[in-house]
Amino acid sequence: DIDEVEPIIETGSNGSLPDKYSTSDFVSIMRGCDNFCTYCIVPFVRGREKSRDPQEIITEIKRRASKGMKEVTLLGQNVNSYGKKENMPDFSELLYMVSDIKDIERIRFATSHPKDLSDDLIKCFRNITKLCRHFHIPVQSGSNAVLKKMNRKYTKEHYLKRIDALRSECPEIELSTDIIVGFPGETDEDFQATFDLIRSVEYDSIFAFSYSDRPGTKASSYKNKIEDKIKKERLNLLLDMQNKITREKNKAFENKIVEILVERVDLKNRKDGVLKTCLSGRSFGNRIVHIEESAEDFEKFKDFKGKIIKTRITDALGHSLKGEIK
Ligand code: SF4
Repeated sequence: DIDEVEPIIETGSNGSLPDKYSTSDFVSIMRGCDNFCTYCIVPFVRGREKSRDPQEIITEIKRRASKGMKEVTLLGQNVNSYGKKENMPDFSELLYMVSDIKDIERIRFATSHPKDLSDDLIKCFRNITKLCRHFHIPVQSGSNAVLKKMNRKYTKEHYLKRIDALRSECPEIELSTDIIVGFPGETDEDFQATFDLIRSVEYDSIFAFSYSDRPGTKASSYKNKIEDKIKKERLNLLLDMQNKITREKNKAFENKIVEILVERVDLKNRKDGVLKTCLSGRSFGNRIVHIEESAEDFEKFKDFKGKIIKTRITDALGHSLKGEIK
């Protein structure tokens, strides 16, 4: 896409906000994980799940919001189980608390485990106007046999019901997921089940990877490892299909008005050598939008960083959108 050239001037160093405070930033709400998916090393290296005190989180977000952060992404290995072990407010209650912070305009979170996705969390998409209409919900496989070997603790049917519930509460929600292809023992039928699930859900984007052993995990000792050649073929089939879906979904944005939170304003030499002011930010869903303005107007536009502006989408690019300021 557009963002391939090094900026000459970045708003990080020249804009009105100091470097270390981004418009959009992450705040960790918990550490570790209790889930022991058989391919994953996280529970061994980061330890058991532990949630941070909600007041401590709120204080940190307020402090960072006072320095210019407008959008916060609440971060944890499985935010859906936040607070449960400690008998603290659960994740949906934490979202309401964060939404009360005046200077925070948008809230995101990552990442979720489908088995812990509650109705209360789904309802947040109706009740919290600051909650961005995007849900990253890793499925990993569409085959129940593989999900079992991965120790994911849900079935394809349960997962699809959660997707239906999300979409009926919030029809405009943008969905993304993680997929592992070529898990040990994955048959052609297992892969086909994954392919069918990805095609039927029509995610806005996917992150798909070929399985590889992580030393020390249970799956690394599993037999029936899949040949690299087959893993590559399966991955390409999946990515080709998803690229078509993503392109079509991006195309549907053309000529629409989209509000973006401007995260960067840079002075850049385009690939053709023309100097431009380049603004970029994300939609209320999860689409990156790029805007080009004349280089002479850099001073005028650099203060757009941290503002929510209206753009008209002019072109759908492969993985992002191009727009103009309305
Ligand atoms: Fe935990 Fe995620 Fe790793 Fe599973 S994949 S063990 S949920 S961190």
